[in-house]
Amino acid sequence: MGLEDLKKYVRDIPDFPKEGIVFKDVTPLLHNNEAFHSAIDLMADQLKDIKFDYIASIDARGFILGAALAYKLNKGLILVRKKGKLPYKKITKDYELEYGTNSIEMHADSIKKGDNVIICDDLMATGGTSKAAIDIVNELGGNVTALSFLIELEGLGAREKIGNYPIKSLIKY
Ligand code: AMP
Repeated sequence: MGLEDLKKYVRDIPDFPKEGIVFKDVTPLLHNNEAFHSAIDLMADQLKDIKFDYIASIDARGFILGAALAYKLNKGLILVRKKGKLPYKKITKDYELEYGTNSIEMHADSIKKGDNVIICDDLMATGGTSKAAIDIVNELGGNVTALSFLIELEGLGAREKIGNYPIKSLIKY
């Protein structure tokens, strides 16, 4: 399935989770075997020239795509979780949202110095979440070699915020 067809499986939900936000619902894409398969194949293809040991996937929809990619590309999977979910020694990073702050965490032993890591999520909007994940990887001595998203919302300043890292995204709005 090509990109144009894939786009038909992303559903717009206006005013969710709050007024003014158009939520990009990827459950129809995951529900359709061909769409899910094609999305993973196309995302994997975008990573073919990137050197990496691990995919650091972001809670929660990032886990779904990150796990499928890690399996397909035979890499390890790291979970970047919302605060309070990880049981072992961890690194926490707080970051700004439009209103208030949020926190993500990674296990401190998930990355060794020099490991090459790709950050993966379903969608990049302002880039705040991804930037926080980059900061944790760097703090642990890893190298972020790329970021991989199913969807990129353009014009929200994410690429400026993230800076000089390769950003791969399949569907752009
Ligand atoms: P950001 O940190 O602004 O790049 O937001 C990215 C995170 O929030 C990802 O984990 C997305 O799943 C989620 N997100 C932000 N905006 C949307 C949206 N319009 N539709 C669906 N998910 C979103």
